[in-house]
This record gives sequence, C-alpha cells and structure tokens, in this order.
Amino acid sequence: MTDWITAAAALKPETRLFINGEFRSARDGATFDSFSPRDGRLLCTVSAAGEADVDAAVRAAAHAFESGVWSRADRRERARVLARLSDLMLENLDELALLESIDSGHPIGDARRVDVPQAARTVRWYAEAIDKIYDEIAPTPQTALALITREPLGVVGAVVPWNYPLIITAWKIAPALAAGNSVVLKPAELTSLSALKLAQLAAEAGIPAGVFNVVPGLGPVAGQALGRHPLVNKITFTGSPAVGRGFLTYSGESNGKQVALELGGKSAQVVLADTEDLAACAEAVAWGIFYNAGQTCHGGSRLIVDERVHDELVDRVVTVGRSLVLGDPLDEATQIGTIASAKQLERVLEYTDIARAEGAVVHGGNRVRPEGLASGYYVEPTVFDGVDNAGRIGQEEIFGPALAVTSVRGAAEAVRVANESEYGLAASLWTGSITTAHAAARMLRAGTVWVNTFDASDIITPFGGFKNSGSGRDRSLHAFDAYTALKTTWINVGAPQLSND
Ligand code: NAD
Repeated sequence: MTDWITAAAALKPETRLFINGEFRSARDGATFDSFSPRDGRLLCTVSAAGEADVDAAVRAAAHAFESGVWSRADRRERARVLARLSDLMLENLDELALLESIDSGHPIGDARRVDVPQAARTVRWYAEAIDKIYDEIAPTPQTALALITREPLGVVGAVVPWNYPLIITAWKIAPALAAGNSVVLKPAELTSLSALKLAQLAAEAGIPAGVFNVVPGLGPVAGQALGRHPLVNKITFTGSPAVGRGFLTYSGESNGKQVALELGGKSAQVVLADTEDLAACAEAVAWGIFYNAGQTCHGGSRLIVDERVHDELVDRVVTVGRSLVLGDPLDEATQIGTIASAKQLERVLEYTDIARAEGAVVHGGNRVRPEGLASGYYVEPTVFDGVDNAGRIGQEEIFGPALAVTSVRGAAEAVRVANESEYGLAASLWTGSITTAHAAARMLRAGTVWVNTFDASDIITPFGGFKNSGSGRDRSLHAFDAYTALKTTWINVGAPQLSND
C-alpha cells in the first residue's frame, strides 16, 4: 500500500499563475498561504493574481480566441487534444489525487476513485461529443439558405469553489474548451493546487498558449477582476449565493456578460411511510449528507420523514453515521475527511449550539481529533432531530456533516415541507409506490430528484438548481448551450432554377 504521508511530503506543487502558456509569479509578487485542513499546517504559498494579472490572462485568452488557433481549429483536433488531456489526468492520477486530498481534505481513496477519474471522464466525454453535434438549417423560402450554427462565445471566466475543485472545474472547462472558447479559470483560494497541475497537463496535451489560463487569487480581487473584465464574454460560477449575485452586479456594471450561477442548497431527503427497505434508505440518507464531510452543494441536509418510520430510520441513520471511519485524509481506510478550513469548521460547530437553542436533539456535533494528528478540522457525523423546518437549522446551508430531521405525516405534507426552502438544487424521495413517486417528483421544486436512491448521477445528465440554487446547468450535452451562441447566416441563393448554359 502506498505511504501517502511520505508521498505528500515529497510533493512540490506548482504555485504560480498560468498565463499565456507560462507559469509566472504575480506582477506585484503577492502571494497567499495555503494550509492543509488535514493538520492545519502551511502547505505552500501561492501566487495571488491581482487585477493586472487577470487582465493579462484575459487578454491572452482573447488574443488566442481571435487568432483562431483553437476557436477555429477542426473539431477533431480539439477532440484529440482534450482526449490527450483526459489520458494525462489518468496517467497523473496519484499526484492529482494527492494534491486534491492535502488541499481540500478529501480522503485519498475518494480522490483516487472519484474526483480524478470523474474529472478525466468529463474531459473525455466532451472531447468525444464535440464532433457529433450538428447545426441546423432553417425552413426558408427556396431563394435562401439560412444556417443556424453554434459559435463559441469568446473568453469564458470560470470561478469555482473548494468543495470539489477538480470535478467542478472539469464540468466547466471541458465543454467550454471543446466548444472552442478560451478559458480563464479562478480556483478557490483554499484549493488552487490541482488546478495548477491541470494547467501543466493542458499545456502538455497541446492546448495552445492563451487558450487555458489559471489565475489563483483572492475572490474579491482576482474573482472580481474577472467578473468585471470587459473582454470576458461569460462567467460560469459555482459557489455561494451572495458571491453569485455579486457576479450579476459585476456584469451589469461592466459589459453585460452572460453569468451562469450554480449556488447553494438545502436538499431534502423525503422518506414516506411505505418505503420498502429502510436499511438501504438509511445508508443512502447517511451517505447523502456525510460524504465529503457534508461539503456537497446538493448534500441531503434535510431529512423529511414520515412520523410512522421516524424512530427506526433516525436510529439507523445515527448508527450508520457512527460506523463511518472519520480520520486522516491520507489514510486509505478513511471514509470521511476534514472540513476544508478553520473558518468553515467554526461555522459548522456554531450550528450545534443553534440546534440546541432551537430545541433539537443532537447526536454527534463535536470536533474530533484523529489519532496521530495534532490539529486539523474534523467534525463527527451529526444528526439534529426534531428540527422546525422554518428555523435556522431547517433553512440555512450549514455545509458540514449535519443532518436536520423534521417529522411529517403523509406525502402531501412531506412535499410541502420539502419545498419550503429558498433553495432548490436536489431532492430525493423514498416510497414503495410508483404513482406517489411520479406525482411527488413532479411537485418537488428541485433541479434533480432521485427516487429510492441518492446522488445517482453522471456527466450524461444536467445538474443545476431552481430558486436560489442558481440558474445555470452543468453537465450533459446541454452544457454546450451555455458555452455557445446561435448565429444565423442567411444566404441569398437566388431563384431555384437551373440553366443549360
Ligand atoms: P464562495 O462563493 O465563497 O467562493 C466561490 C468562488 O468565488 C471562489 O473561487 C472565491 O474565490 C470566489 N469569490 C469569493 N468572493 C468573491 C468576490 N467578492 N468576488 C468574486 N469572486 C469571489 O463559495 P465557497 O465557500 O468556495 O463554496 C461553498 C459554496 O458553494 C456553498 O454555498 C455551496 O453550496 C456552493 N456550491 C454550489 C454548487 C452547485 O453546483 N450548485 C457546487 C459546489 C458548491
């Protein structure tokens, strides 16, 4: 078995900005510290892009776009290069997984089995798709031929969060690049390292200079500069609702660029009394919230359960939660790793006090310290039972391993309570009746509804939210709509006659 702790100590991550095909420090030499949530130790200092650096990256991207080196390249050539990038990601699986694990606190097992392979699959999937999409011909009179073609937008700014750095990055850059755009990626300041490795691999795969740029930096500086840049044609953002709305303001105050938002969630796991397999349901409910220490935008953070199965289900969920191996992300046996930062840890723990104040029964909710680690941000799987859905625990996104349980009676009340949320990213529904499942699934206001499962998904289906969970859709062929604009080319072909001349 690999000794991941020794391997991590030997890592020498790239920490500079990647602009116009080169790694370079920030113009003003600014850096920020990157800590590992595994033990709270300083990992490295990363170059912090300022306004001038973001401007250089955007100009390089715009110049590359105008040159046509990528935007007008044969689709098969773009497909070949992106497929090579996907292969390189898999060839560098261990290094990418290790960077992701030490930077974000994901267990190394998940990073190797899920994060890197899924990100690589996303890149390959869009590479394979891009030369299988046909344009349209409009039903004009015969004197004309009107082509409706999908054209790349130009420069796409991708701004991503820290919870699934590689996976979310791939959802955005793969369709954007496949469609012929140039991209400037702003990773989250907590997790820049895998993005910089990706930049190196992209160059090695043959993505031309300027087409893919990575500008780590602070949100209000680098993120804002990208959001306000007049040469950026589209922002694709995943993160918190407040910052997402900020990007709408940046757009309105600059060039009216398109903005696609994937925001937070408070997804309901609805369990009805006729659920056939409560043991399987409890496993799914527990993993639905505790995976990645609850730092999943669509994490099933509310359990809306029929009172007739409440006691048995909650007992089972608490038992599953206690059985999960919480520990060092660099231990292959670990199932649940860390909270991503000290700030986020503090925020998560505050909710235990809020839950008690709101009268909930609390199972877990404590910070823990795995053996052998002096520090680090670990919270045990937590269940808040007897939650009033209208209170703070029922409404606010905690973004930690904390499940809020609310009892209801019957499917109608369950769906009503599930919909009583400002968010609408995802929901699950457990029932033995296909009729109830179908009706309730249609009524749940969420971008994804799972029936008798949780988090079953793939790149083949769209993902995004209703209400305050955002407006954009990542994944599936529909993602190409987000990174292209329709162009009409109307050609006057004259009267439809043939002559013998
Ligand atoms: P965040 O909004 O703080 O940061 C997201 C990105 O925006 C980061 O790159 C950050 O540097 C940048 N940013 C921060 N402040 C900025 C500013 N003033 N101007 C411009 N850019 C700025 O979010 P986070 O804390 O990194 O991520 C957690 C949030 O993301 C949660 O709310 C979670 O639900 C959400 N999320 C949503 C999805 C989804 O697909 N819907 C997926 C993952 C995470």
